[in-house]
Amino acid sequence: MSIVVVGSVALDSIETPYGKVKNVLGGSATYFSVSASFFTGDVKLVAVIGEDFPDEYIKFLDSKGIDLEGLEKAKGKTFRWAGRYRENLSGAETLATELNVFENFSPKIPDSYKNAEYVFLANINPELQLDVLKQMKNAKLIVCDTMNLWIAERKEKLLETIKHVDILIINDAEARQLTGEQKVDMAARKILEYGPSRVVIKKGEHGAITLTNNTYFSSPAYPLKRVLDPTGAGDTFAGGFMGYLASTDDLSEQNIRKAIVYGTVMASFNVEDFSINRQLILTKEEIESRFAEIKKITEF
Ligand code: AMP
Repeated sequence: MSIVVVGSVALDSIETPYGKVKNVLGGSATYFSVSASFFTGDVKLVAVIGEDFPDEYIKFLDSKGIDLEGLEKAKGKTFRWAGRYRENLSGAETLATELNVFENFSPKIPDSYKNAEYVFLANINPELQLDVLKQMKNAKLIVCDTMNLWIAERKEKLLETIKHVDILIINDAEARQLTGEQKVDMAARKILEYGPSRVVIKKGEHGAITLTNNTYFSSPAYPLKRVLDPTGAGDTFAGGFMGYLASTDDLSEQNIRKAIVYGTVMASFNVEDFSINRQLILTKEEIESRFAEIKKITEF
């Protein structure tokens, strides 16, 4: 099954206690697509880049089999984000957001994308998320992510988007900010009242939970020995989650639980290095091996 993703393709500048990088490949749609490409050869990207976007990054995305027909090149500069993480690596502090080519972007979904069954609205202005949604004709599963900026500045549009999606995937801090509930479980239940039939809440090193009105599942995070850069963990999680679901085309509770664990596994690799560097050398065998380890540590 194919997946259409709309989100940012970015040049990121990141600072963590373990290093600093400038203008590296990033963006919510990038992390998502690269992660999902480990599960399905049918990921279709919708985003915009500027004239300064390095060719080598395009070649890399292409080498992962990602369909780039919906990746528009516009006049101007690529979207840039600069962020910093403190000692405990929890929560990025945004130092700068330059929307650049995203300011005037109006996504045009190629005809070859319109019938995709799986749609991921990665973190981007909720107006663009809605735009894409309106153009999709055959969606079977619509999943959405967002961030603090849009909750603070575009809450109404965001709630309208959320009303139309099947699953909202967000982190614990965003769930609190969106709902005003301090307890994550209470926040999750409130989100279910906004429209989605399922919510997935990522809790960083404390794993992830998923709830519907009558199910509850919790996965631990993979116990890592070293984390260099958490950037993109959420999008990489979503890529593993949806990539696995699209490749199996099975939306049963049991399979969704497996997808959550694949998401967890993919995020664990992502944070081991900056940008998508870890994914450059990642193998299917390593993914399966961590999946099996999580199964083992949660058995009782
Ligand atoms: P994550 O760490 O999973 O929340 O996502 C990190 C990615 O989000 C970075 O690569 C950024 O380029 C991207 N990002 C940061 N701010 C925004 C924004 N306002 N809109 C879209 N993408 C963003």
